[in-house]
Amino acid sequence: MPNSYDVIIIGAGTGGYVAAIRCAQLGKKVAVVEKQKALGGTCLIWGCIPTKALLEHAHALKVITAAKEWGVTIPAATPAIDMNQVQSRKDRIVTGLTKGVEFLFKKNKIDWIKGTARLAGKGKIEIVEGDPPSGEASTGKQTLEAKEIIIATGSSARSIPGIDIDHKRIITSDEAIGLKDVPKTLVIMGSGAVGVEFASIYRRFGSDVTIIELLPRLVPLEDEAVSAELEKSFRKQGIKALTGTKVTKAVAGANGVEIEAQTPDGKTQKLTADVLLVATGRGPVTTGLGAEDVGVSMERGYIKVDEMYRTSVPNISAIGDVITLGSGAHPQLAHVSSAEGILVAERLAGLEVRPINYDHVPNCTYCDPEIGSVGLTEAEAKQKNYDVRVGSFPFGVLGRAKMAGETEGFVKIVAEKKYDEILGVHMIGPRSTELVAEAVLALRLECTAEELIKTMHAHPTFSEAVGEAAHATHGAAIHL
Ligand SMILES: Cc1cc2nc3c(=O)[nH]c(=O)nc-3n(C[C@H](O)[C@H](O)[C@H](O)COP(=O)(O)OP(=O)(O)OC[C@H]3O[C@@H](n4cnc5c(N)ncnc54)[C@H](O)[C@@H]3O)c2cc1C
Repeated sequence: MPNSYDVIIIGAGTGGYVAAIRCAQLGKKVAVVEKQKALGGTCLIWGCIPTKALLEHAHALKVITAAKEWGVTIPAATPAIDMNQVQSRKDRIVTGLTKGVEFLFKKNKIDWIKGTARLAGKGKIEIVEGDPPSGEASTGKQTLEAKEIIIATGSSARSIPGIDIDHKRIITSDEAIGLKDVPKTLVIMGSGAVGVEFASIYRRFGSDVTIIELLPRLVPLEDEAVSAELEKSFRKQGIKALTGTKVTKAVAGANGVEIEAQTPDGKTQKLTADVLLVATGRGPVTTGLGAEDVGVSMERGYIKVDEMYRTSVPNISAIGDVITLGSGAHPQLAHVSSAEGILVAERLAGLEVRPINYDHVPNCTYCDPEIGSVGLTEAEAKQKNYDVRVGSFPFGVLGRAKMAGETEGFVKIVAEKKYDEILGVHMIGPRSTELVAEAVLALRLECTAEELIKTMHAHPTFSEAVGEAAHATHGAAIHL
């Protein structure tokens, strides 16, 4: 039967498309239903890839602006950013990667069903609306059958009550990646990864940037020392941070946005901005999916799953941004969704699988300076009654950092005293989003600080900061 599959996956984001490839590798007949004009989901089209492409432009501008320091002579007086070129380069990168997923689908004989899927009873999916790539015929209305269904419908940006997104003056990250002009003034609501990344991008491009954060510090989920370092660096760069401050009103007009915020002392602060970027989080995409109609248990709109990503309905699994595991927040990250997709594919193929340890998820924030972290913060370790010892090492001491002119930040290791086990590693500074990989492996292998001390780090590299921070937990950093 042409419309019958072993596995149908709804959504071709980093959860869905990776699950599809793994299922196909394991011999399953697979289809993916995707309603967008391209494969890859939030990460490739609106998230990780376009934002990091813009950050690379910002970095290029930073280096060129410091040309004199590098001994490079540039005839033009002031380097400036050309948004047309920025956008077209970013779009080329996105298209290259989404086409790459299409290629992988063909290679693995995965069918892309172009349209919007709705669950329609046991093992059945209705394609309710086709939205094919331009020039292609719609896959059209049809019913598909599958032995197993994986829901990977992801998330979308959401606002908070009272703040209406008009997508022009009051925008989300979906619009912020595509701005044709650099706003003169940009106010950003929320200082999670998305908020601080756009702060770095647009400040470097020339905007006057203010971040408003409800909690008392920037990047509030990171270690407190990391937040303090970021705030210090942002201040130097001219990014204003209003922490402990709540946006109470935002009204978009023809010329800008009038914003009111309540400061920690209860006073009202008024701000105006060309653009207000709402970066206060994302919510699950389940509208019209029919999940509840077929008996799938939900919680606050998220699909409830167990540690093997089974929903309450047999033969329906769910992964990625759209799920909740019940206790604690589920990280909405591309690599998390992919790991969950691989796990489900292997479970469906009868392989032995183990639950994912969410304490070992790397968190990377690509602002300038970058942040990479894994495991418990110092405060969390203390809350859990660990007798902790902490070692920090500043990047600024390293020869490699001096050569690169990237001397901000540090690596901080939180270990426990009894067995010397590493509980968390927190870094802010150059290449932190790359360096964190070693820390993830260290936590996964339950390494001690001593083992990290004995692990040789090449010289001259940024990674020496990790080895030195391990030394520092024993009070024996060599270069301090
Ligand atoms: C600005 C921004 C920056 C980010 N940066 C990073 C980063 O640097 N690193 C990182 O790890 N994460 C990052 N993320 C988060 C990351 O993008 C998500 O965690 C990840 O994309 C989730 O993958 P997913 O497969 O669960 O869902 P999604 O990627 O959201 O994919 C879901 C797909 O399902 C499709 N779909 C939904 N409903 C239906 C339906 N009924 N029928 C057919 N198709 C449907 C959607 O069109 C979409 O393509 C970022 C997110 C944003 C917004």
